[in-house]
Amino acid sequence: MPTLAEVPTSKFQALGRLIGNTPLITIHFRYEGKHRVLYAKSEYLNLTGSIKDRMALRILQEAYAGNKIAPGHTIAEATSGNTGISFAAIGRMLGHPVKIFMPDWMSQERVHLIRSYGAEVVSVSKAEGGFLGSIRRCEEFAAGQPDVFLPRQFSNPANTLAHAETTGPEIWSQLLSIGKRPQAFVAGVGTGGTVMGVGKFLRERDPSIRVHPVEPAESPTLTTGCKVGNHRIQGISDEFIPEIIRLNELNEVLSVSDGDAILMSQKLAMNLGLAVGISSGCNFLAAVKAQEMLGADAAVVTLFCDDNKKYLSTALMNEEAPRPGYLAPRIELLGIGTVGRACEFCH
Ligand code: PMP
Repeated sequence: MPTLAEVPTSKFQALGRLIGNTPLITIHFRYEGKHRVLYAKSEYLNLTGSIKDRMALRILQEAYAGNKIAPGHTIAEATSGNTGISFAAIGRMLGHPVKIFMPDWMSQERVHLIRSYGAEVVSVSKAEGGFLGSIRRCEEFAAGQPDVFLPRQFSNPANTLAHAETTGPEIWSQLLSIGKRPQAFVAGVGTGGTVMGVGKFLRERDPSIRVHPVEPAESPTLTTGCKVGNHRIQGISDEFIPEIIRLNELNEVLSVSDGDAILMSQKLAMNLGLAVGISSGCNFLAAVKAQEMLGADAAVVTLFCDDNKKYLSTALMNEEAPRPGYLAPRIELLGIGTVGRACEFCH
């Protein structure tokens, strides 16, 4: 086992500068006849292009500090994609082989990206258990092997801490720098690390801040407690309620249709040049819903978790038919501003 002196501090320092501290985008739009503003963290600007870099870095830092991983050990994780890309990149930077267990219906871009870092992808079909089967296969692979490290993103508290220590403080200080205080934060739930961690930090600053988890209307796992239906918002609503989610500490679950999320993501790219992934369109619409509850002037914050490059072979690139009740067709996007990266007290 390595001692603390063997922890690759300089590599972690370098990674720390490539991950987090993302600009906050202000989005101006018209809805129900009113000019409104929402705030979104540009998480696609992280090292591998998604929000998951934050937790992958935090988990590995903690694992090194606690002597739970050593150079050369294999990192093995079950993931629907972005986590695999993050561990593949960061793992390789730190010198680890990486093995990713993934449901076989995730986009081809995700599989290719993970393989491009030299990581191994094990595809798990629906018949083999899908997402839960991926987790089971990963645990079986690691059983009895001391040189395999399991990040266990769905239950590892370092996932939540990553966002309580970086994403949350960044949001707080960026809004403060323009004279605002957040009134609500919304985020689609994959592992729940983002919503729990940012929520924890913001609520410590101001317990009245509303914190809403978001799920696809077609697959309401959080409200029903089990896997129901199918949806097209990759990265959120896997097949169960993750261990790190505490619904009783959060405000009500907001729900967004996958078709509405697709239309919104397409609109953000076409009208504003913000080429974001489907979960980002979903988050934006959930933020509009939260603003509706609080008033048109409420400061509501969300995140753009990744960009659209991983979805070029998916429904995001096809024409999506609007349905009655969708919000995206009623939103007129007007323009953006940014609140810069510089964030003195958060790192
Ligand atoms: N959007 C995308 C595209 C993701 O990959 C993820 C992570 N699976 C999320 C949202 C949700 O983030 P979290 O795991 O922190 O809940």
